[in-house]
Amino acid sequence: AIAEEEDDPNDLVPRPPIVTVMGHVDHGKTSLLDNIRNTNVIAGEAGGITQHIGAYNVQLNDGRKITFLDTPGHEAFTAMRARGAQVTDVAIIIIAADDDIMPQTVEAINHAKAAGVPIVFAINKIDKPEANPNKIKERLAEMNYLVEEWGGKYQSQDISAKKGIGVQELMEKVLLEADLLELKANPNRNAKGSVIESSLDKGRGYIATVLVQNGTLKQGDIVLAGTYYGRIKAMFNERNQRIEKAGPSEPALILGLNGAPQAGDIFYVMENEQEARAIASRREQLQREQSIRTQKL
Ligand code: GDP
Repeated sequence: AIAEEEDDPNDLVPRPPIVTVMGHVDHGKTSLLDNIRNTNVIAGEAGGITQHIGAYNVQLNDGRKITFLDTPGHEAFTAMRARGAQVTDVAIIIIAADDDIMPQTVEAINHAKAAGVPIVFAINKIDKPEANPNKIKERLAEMNYLVEEWGGKYQSQDISAKKGIGVQELMEKVLLEADLLELKANPNRNAKGSVIESSLDKGRGYIATVLVQNGTLKQGDIVLAGTYYGRIKAMFNERNQRIEKAGPSEPALILGLNGAPQAGDIFYVMENEQEARAIASRREQLQREQSIRTQKL
């Protein structure tokens, strides 16, 4: 394990919440993430998000920011959790109002509960004539998830991801939940965070999207992630613009690792390359021994 310094409470500043959208297939997860991506001012400056890097950051009209994980399926959420990464502060569970609570809805709720992550329900497709949001709220109540408008403790919002109805209100409710968590980080230290996705790119070599959870990640930093390491040659945001650094709750696409770490691998910034290489190769050897042992069984 890598020794970590505790942050002095005086160094901690508020950070944006990191949000995952989960739900049954076809209930509108992609539509909601697309709507948010396309209608919200991107942190920093105007301009659309031009590439999928697995996470993006939006800024609401009041200046507040939210980071959304934009990974396919909630398999990513479970895979990341299995690897020890806790990358979600608030979970949006999306349920189609013209359908019902489905097996994957229950699964998504259970994942969020197991992770101890607060839930906000998004009852989607209310633009459809056959939509019945009250039926969904009744079903939730039967499962002991009483929504706030009925006197319960769970935030819920009727939305149409397709038409953009209720989406701003949904984000306000997400921020309300996030406020209770008093999320903080120390931007003035070496970065630590999680790998969201990675791949081998023809022109650019190994690329990885990482989410900074504490500290500030900078170009030139030496990063250790899983069994790989490297010096960051270049960093990009979700608008495909070069950036020099990424602070707490910000995603960044990084170039310079010597391999593709797995989603959920934790990354650390190391003081020197020798140390990073030593830990990476020790981990690789352990993995190799592990797989030989498994083969023998
Ligand atoms: P996912 O599988 O959860 O990512 O669901 P998608 O976002 O791909 O949506 C599944 C289908 O439902 C698509 O045909 C969408 O156009 C449609 N859909 C999603 N949201 C809405 C909505 O608010 N209203 C209507 N009428 N259709 C929607």
